[in-house]
Amino acid sequence: MAIDLHPLTLAKARKDLDSGAYAPLELANAYLANAKSKNKELNAYLEFFEDTAVEDAKRAAEMIKGGKATAITGIPVAVKDNMLIKGKISTSGSKVLTGHRATYDATVIEKLREGGAIILGRTNMDEFAMGSSNETSAYGPVRNPLDPTRVPGGSSGGSAAAVAMDGALASLGSDTGGSIRQPAALCGLVGFKPTYGAVSRYGLMALASSLDQIGPFAKTVEDAEILFEAIRGYDRNDSTSIPNERFPHEKKTKLKIGVPRAFVDMKGIDPDVKKNFDQALDAFKKKGHRVIDVELPYLSYGLPAYYVIMPAEASANLARYDGIRYGYSSKEAGTLMEVYKRSRGEGFGREARRRVLLGTYVLSAGYYDAYYNKAVAVRRIIASDFDRVFKGVDVIATPTSPSPAFRLGEKTDDPIKMYLEDIFTVTANIAGIPGISLPSGTVSRDGKDLPVGLQLMAGRTREDLLFTAAKAFMP
Ligand code: GLN
Repeated sequence: MAIDLHPLTLAKARKDLDSGAYAPLELANAYLANAKSKNKELNAYLEFFEDTAVEDAKRAAEMIKGGKATAITGIPVAVKDNMLIKGKISTSGSKVLTGHRATYDATVIEKLREGGAIILGRTNMDEFAMGSSNETSAYGPVRNPLDPTRVPGGSSGGSAAAVAMDGALASLGSDTGGSIRQPAALCGLVGFKPTYGAVSRYGLMALASSLDQIGPFAKTVEDAEILFEAIRGYDRNDSTSIPNERFPHEKKTKLKIGVPRAFVDMKGIDPDVKKNFDQALDAFKKKGHRVIDVELPYLSYGLPAYYVIMPAEASANLARYDGIRYGYSSKEAGTLMEVYKRSRGEGFGREARRRVLLGTYVLSAGYYDAYYNKAVAVRRIIASDFDRVFKGVDVIATPTSPSPAFRLGEKTDDPIKMYLEDIFTVTANIAGIPGISLPSGTVSRDGKDLPVGLQLMAGRTREDLLFTAAKAFMP
């Protein structure tokens, strides 16, 4: 039976698999066949795991037969190349990790396997998750399935494209400053960054440890929630992991939605993207929810603070790639010093090197107080600003990104332009709060309709309110 992949959701596939309409292996093969044919052009996957996908599918079939199916049993998913899968190559999109094989499973991978999911392969990404267009990958850029002349967003561009091209039913990405939400917006998907600490980071290759979170891409809010429920949970291997009991489950039907008007109205956002955002707010009002303006005066300092804290942590995290312990080692090096210098110089791409330079600069003795400590102070102010506002509203709404998908090469020469892509998303990471991007319609560019996203954020651990609001927008 040919399975119609495009309208398929996780919830629907669950029913089909349980009723025996098709077997897990049939579903996995349908996705693999489609993914492989599309991948030649789009480059979303770096590798397909055909061998282990068959094993995963077998296990899923047994679970279903034995009445032990979970919500994700037999569901084909794709995983970003920065999450460790024992025995598989994982490179974080970098040449410096060429040929590096993981020696253990990330907690999220263990959870996917325990739940009976089928892992189809690893997806392309910006090098070490640094980027907003997937163009910094050492393995070539990913193209947007909706318009291959354009980028899919980043850094989880491969995970977004994999779902948007019907090459997986859902996928996992990581989000340090917007890397799930922005590509979701640019590819017309739902992308969710959980509360910092909701999903274990054990086995996730670190970009900036105080900001990184793993989360799902899916076609519906319900699917994103299902996948989140499957991977979340306290983990003693991650010291920042939050106990499950700390997440409330409040039921609300009428919501208060806060809009940081001054921030949304700043220049730099495309006028039609802003119009689309206002229409999204109208849709909430029509359904009987309240939309009110809120004051978050420090939001505009989020991006500068992020671009100090993130490179500072990245430069420390990337210090471990020394040409000895993992992956790439320069063949030209004679002395130990040369091994370090050449392996890092040859192995890291331009963006990674730029961030190591920025990070070591802001952490250096003379500048630590001037830059790093200031950024940390700004971070605290932004977090307490959010706390204050969430006393009066359930969620906060902004656009996800200031523009729709741009053309390949359009922003590569100007890092500041690229960094501005993250203007609306970084604050959720800075404050550790959950954020979700929902498809909110399209804007037209050169005769093409391109998707844009609505971002909703809630207070720390208030995933309950966030999903309620997301479903109210996109039932
Ligand atoms: N685009 C942002 C950056 O380049 C966010 C990256 C991310 O979330 N991993 O840092």
